[in-house]
Amino acid sequence: MDRKYIIVAGGVISGVGKGVATASIGKILKEYGFKTTAIKIDPYINVDAGTLRPTEHGEVWVTDDGGEIDQDLGNYERFLGETLSKINNITTGQIYYSVIKKEREGKFLGKTVQFIPHIPNEILERIKIASNNYDFALVEIGGTIGDYENIPFLFAAKSLERQIGKENVVYILITYLPIPSHIKEMKTKPTQQAIKSLSEHGIFPDIILCRAKEPLDDVRKKKIEIYANIDREFVISAPDISTIYRIPLNFEKEKLGKKILKKLGIKKRKKADFKHWEKLVDNIEHPRMNIKIAMVGKYLDIGDYSLLDVYISIKEALVHAGANLRVGVETEWINSKTLEKRENNIKNLSSYDGIIIPGGFGETGIEGKILAIEFARKQKIPLLGLCLGLQLAVIEFARNVCALSGANSTEFEESTKYPVIDVLPSQKKLLDNARIGGTMRLGAYAAFLESDSLTLSLYRKTGRIEKDKERLKEMLGRKDERYRMGRTPIGKNTILERHRHRYEVSPGFVHFLEDSGLKIAGFHKRLDDVNLIEFIEINDHPFFIATQSHPEFKSFLDDPAPLFLGLIEASLKQKKKR
Ligand code: GLN
Repeated sequence: MDRKYIIVAGGVISGVGKGVATASIGKILKEYGFKTTAIKIDPYINVDAGTLRPTEHGEVWVTDDGGEIDQDLGNYERFLGETLSKINNITTGQIYYSVIKKEREGKFLGKTVQFIPHIPNEILERIKIASNNYDFALVEIGGTIGDYENIPFLFAAKSLERQIGKENVVYILITYLPIPSHIKEMKTKPTQQAIKSLSEHGIFPDIILCRAKEPLDDVRKKKIEIYANIDREFVISAPDISTIYRIPLNFEKEKLGKKILKKLGIKKRKKADFKHWEKLVDNIEHPRMNIKIAMVGKYLDIGDYSLLDVYISIKEALVHAGANLRVGVETEWINSKTLEKRENNIKNLSSYDGIIIPGGFGETGIEGKILAIEFARKQKIPLLGLCLGLQLAVIEFARNVCALSGANSTEFEESTKYPVIDVLPSQKKLLDNARIGGTMRLGAYAAFLESDSLTLSLYRKTGRIEKDKERLKEMLGRKDERYRMGRTPIGKNTILERHRHRYEVSPGFVHFLEDSGLKIAGFHKRLDDVNLIEFIEINDHPFFIATQSHPEFKSFLDDPAPLFLGLIEASLKQKKKR
């Protein structure tokens, strides 16, 4: 079968779930037995999302190969259950950067380098590389139709169609139908305009997904059918739902997958089996009980609104773990700064069943987070620390248990007497040698888990050790990825988690911490034999685990992240105790 492309574009407004819809279509096609991948196009000039402000763009997603990417890639990975590469994200910045570089290197042999054909050609080349070896590639064009920014990508889509034939391409338009509160009537006009804008680029949607608060009625379906000149069966209603994980099930009910195949003149390879997924979605919608988790982080405002996207992967990882235990997880966002102000605010933390200290940069609210960690440690409230969360747990332990008063990270206090968290100069050199640029440890790194740790028992229980084995083997086979393995012992206790940080636990302080009872539950052994701390635990505590990694980037509805599962189990016990 020739490779098929599904081009997804959005009309009317952004933020209506285009990424999740794309991911859900991918999930269905995968269920039908097709090898499926998804590519996200971001029309901004940044080369990647690493330098974007989280307040504008939500959380940065990190791939195994160290890409810092828009979180839609997170949705693709979560729904497809596949490890995607950074090449699955294409930005305008990358395209121009590469075309200009080629021009400087004389690769265009004296030709005039122009928008057409050079920019769309570069886009197409990248789409083809990312979709190599797949039956289906979904290509989601970011932004909204009508934006100046996505014109080159629409042009590239049209060229793709010309090259491989319309029989191999399906266009899907995702629109939004508002119901203005003063008229209480669903309006189709913005959708009509989006169809018109798209047609100006020579693209006529094969399928229109109509996002709205409510299902589309017949009158409106008919309007769109006539306006877009497509049969009604291809106008699909996608109303708001209780959980994003219901979307593939709803699409399946609407026979969306079948309709896509019909457009392409092909048949399913196997019968889809959504039983387990359906059960998990049902668990999300009907939990047997609820627990309350405090997320002690930075509270981010944009104007009068606060951005909830900053910790989206953590939120999803909690949903996944909760679904598998049929427990509803209520996450409350606590501004760590408020904990610094009043002692009572700290005491209020005892009304939660568990606490998460998420990752972060910069010194705002750091002391509040350290107070929360101390409280959780002493009051034996389940705690999970992620990245910065581990660093702060180490600082708290150094200050209050090892009596290294004033211990800190050089990120917050350069001249601290006890730099228990620091940038390792050797680390910088290693990263330079690996020619990966920048000073961050990015992407998947191997960690060896100690045999008597709670961490290991959770990774075993969830089958992660076995799953990571395959990926580790693949990595070992690739010279350019060898540094991700380092000299970490490979055997039955090795796992892979993703990273995004600059600072590490200072190796020189590890024995102080251990002597005072901090358990090093996992480490990465670098190529120069230096051990980097990856997991810590406190023994005399129902659940106190922190990791230098971001396990939330490897959490799936049907394969929850081990530490999140552990946290929810412990929080359930905590609730019963309270
Ligand atoms: N700011 C810390 C570092 O760079 C932690 C980063 C994070 O939590 N992702 O090491």
